[in-house]
Amino acid sequence: MSADQLPALKSNPKFIFFTDFDGTITMKDSNDYLTDNLGFGPELRRKGNIEVLENRETFRDAFKEMLDSIKHPFNECVQTLVDNIKLDPHFNDFYKWALEHNVPVVVLSSGMVPIIRALLEHLVGPDAAKIQIISNDVKPRKIDGKIPEDWENKEAAWEIEYHDDSSFGHDKSLAIRPYANLPADKRPTLFYAGDGVSDLSAARETDLLFAKKGHDLVTYCEREGVPFTLFEDWNTILENVQAIYSGKTDVKSVAAAGVEAVRHGGNKV
Ligand SMILES: [Mg+2]
Repeated sequence: MSADQLPALKSNPKFIFFTDFDGTITMKDSNDYLTDNLGFGPELRRKGNIEVLENRETFRDAFKEMLDSIKHPFNECVQTLVDNIKLDPHFNDFYKWALEHNVPVVVLSSGMVPIIRALLEHLVGPDAAKIQIISNDVKPRKIDGKIPEDWENKEAAWEIEYHDDSSFGHDKSLAIRPYANLPADKRPTLFYAGDGVSDLSAARETDLLFAKKGHDLVTYCEREGVPFTLFEDWNTILENVQAIYSGKTDVKSVAAAGVEAVRHGGNKV
């Protein structure tokens, strides 16, 4: 892929911020919320997550089982989430700073485009349109071989449409790698923020990974030796990115301090 095909390079940024959506930008994971409240519930969901973390099941299969347990119409699911999901209290401050400092924000998600768009529009406002979203999608589920009319409002009439053929459903590294592989004089510094098993595919790709305190991604990074730093909310992220932007520190020092903090029990919530 050439540089002019990479949308986040258009404004010639020095930094690009890739981020997970669910549980990272939002306080709760919207897919977990749907599963727990309208699908098979938290116990089976947690069981599926553990199967993935311990390499006994692919994220792709476990996630589809979870979503397939939700029979409510798609539009009802979107509305339930708009009514219940809240934004990290500091994300809008971060995003405002990012807009003012030419730091493109790219959402890489295992969720579904229409849900993410609806939530961002509701929680961030009109500027949300400037956030590029790369994620899975939704498609109608055929009933007796046919797409039901008005499927968005029918019971059990939708399913997830995966972004690619990977075992993740959406391999987040695919979107980051073309930027990571740019020649040094054109390559911006790349950040990523995430919290869970859907972020494993992205974890190794950027210059600095922010992993949410007390969540599955931290366990994985420690085990696999992926450098990262912890964050509690987007205020931590904003402070770190500002310090790097202004040259007060650099990504290596932040990651080294992060690993040290976890060694001393910093991941306990
Ligand atoms: Mg997440």
